[in-house]
Amino acid sequence: MLENTGWAYAPAPPENSASVIATWLGVTTLLFDDGETQILIDGFFSRPTLADSLFRRPVVNDAATINYAMHEFRMRRLAAIIPVHSHFDHAMDVGAIANRSSASVIGSETTANIARGAGVPEDQIIVVELDETYQFGEFSVRILRSKHAPIGWRGNPPLPGTIDEPLTVPQPISAWREGASYSIVIEHPQGTTLVQGSAGYVEEGLEGVAADVVMLSVGGLTTLDRDYAEKYWQEIVTTTGARIVYPIHFDDFTRPFGEIVPGPRILGNIEKAAEWFNEFQATWDPDCIILLPEFGKPIALYAQSSSST
Ligand SMILES: [Zn+2]
Repeated sequence: MLENTGWAYAPAPPENSASVIATWLGVTTLLFDDGETQILIDGFFSRPTLADSLFRRPVVNDAATINYAMHEFRMRRLAAIIPVHSHFDHAMDVGAIANRSSASVIGSETTANIARGAGVPEDQIIVVELDETYQFGEFSVRILRSKHAPIGWRGNPPLPGTIDEPLTVPQPISAWREGASYSIVIEHPQGTTLVQGSAGYVEEGLEGVAADVVMLSVGGLTTLDRDYAEKYWQEIVTTTGARIVYPIHFDDFTRPFGEIVPGPRILGNIEKAAEWFNEFQATWDPDCIILLPEFGKPIALYAQSSSST
């Protein structure tokens, strides 16, 4: 099904590339690394199953998979863990990861309560101040207010609301409420990447934000209409002038960590999303290219230009 998108996979980094690397670890979990400092967007390695979701079974963090992922992808220099919002498929493991590193968890009060419930010390938790710039090594991170894809009941986000007390596990997946949704701008002397982890937008919310690369959530997008999707593309990609777009959040998050299979069609159709995105790209951003991230493979964010592929 991914082959029907017409999108090529991101090429391997050029030999001796000194580019900032991003590694996609499924859904919208992304590890950024400039060789000195690492930043993790989201943190979702435990994979509650479809049955866990359907039968509302209480679930816990999967310590073995978290240990494996952090070891396999060498997360030894993690400075920050920043979930795009607080649903389980983004933020479930942020506390467990923070406890295995010295990284700060940065997010809404809801995300802070996920970390607190996991026993993360208060001095390792930062509640987001919008408009603030957070410096980690050479990375400057801005966290802007965005919106979740309106794919819940009557155009609301699914599982809306906040977590107001430290969240201890086990809990059914519905315990992880949205909190607040963000667009995350990761600036580096080499270039800027915008992570849009849910297919929502604030009208003109990214006015004045320039990005070289956009990581663009397609989760749930094709359950909305084409006009909505086009507006979403314009607000996120056209506004920022990005030259490369990597679709994310197209994989079935009930599969085990590392298994990439497109999600069930009722939740979104990657082929239809590809058809739409290819049309929007041709209409609005002819200089932009769309590449698929490959699980666990490094992407040299600023080493490739649109002409090199
Ligand atoms: Zn969500």
